[in-house]
Amino acid sequence: MSHSRRTFLKTLGAATAALAAPEQKAHAGAPRKTHLLTLSFDDGFRKSFTRTAEIFEKYKLSACLNVLAAGSPAPEYVNEYTRNSPWGDFKLWNELQRRGHEIMPHGYRHENLTQMPLEQAKELVNKCLDVFSNELEGFDPKKAVFNFPYNASTPELERWLPTRVRAFRTGHTAINPLPHKGQVKLTCTSFGPGSAEAALDREIERLLARESGWLIFNTHGLDGEGWGPIRSSYLERLLERLLAIETVEIIPAGRALETYTS
Ligand SMILES: [Zn+2]
Repeated sequence: MSHSRRTFLKTLGAATAALAAPEQKAHAGAPRKTHLLTLSFDDGFRKSFTRTAEIFEKYKLSACLNVLAAGSPAPEYVNEYTRNSPWGDFKLWNELQRRGHEIMPHGYRHENLTQMPLEQAKELVNKCLDVFSNELEGFDPKKAVFNFPYNASTPELERWLPTRVRAFRTGHTAINPLPHKGQVKLTCTSFGPGSAEAALDREIERLLARESGWLIFNTHGLDGEGWGPIRSSYLERLLERLLAIETVEIIPAGRALETYTS
């Protein structure tokens, strides 16, 4: 290495450290990353969610798993992507939570809350949160992220949700600002019904091309299960690839809000 290049790197290193210092104070204990990724797994398929948790554990990561309060969906959501998949239950969700994964609400029975009167939609959200409070160990709605079924929300519901939960996830662009106080609306994209891998790769490229950001990508099952599946082998390679990038943190949504704003 030439002298000038070494000097440049040394200077760059010092500059980066100086810039990072105040941020690190805000995020006590762990270094603060500039590129956050939440792989937000929806629905609660027993087989895929168990396997997803195992894969995240292999890399000492926590999975972000969003499940239905009633355990299985309303008839409208029984389709070719969900029909043949056994659903998990709170016995499994509590076990996965004890192993370090994040379990969050994804509706009572996966109802589209935009296609009913507001009061009925609120009742279903409340019913969902009541089940979580009763069934999921230590569940606190004030720390929860409510993940809208179908990523479908209305302005009225978006205004009301923060009175019940810490934040909500709905559909829009995938890259959010880094977690900050007062952030209640998280947006994501998804892809289906075929493999979501190429769409996820594209979003990750977009994230890495930016100075900073928080990518929330909504995915479902593994190895052919659910709408827009990814392969478990792809997930392993993806996590390996991203763990090698210094600025990236793979983190569940609720934990990102909690740790990055405390
Ligand atoms: Zn869903």
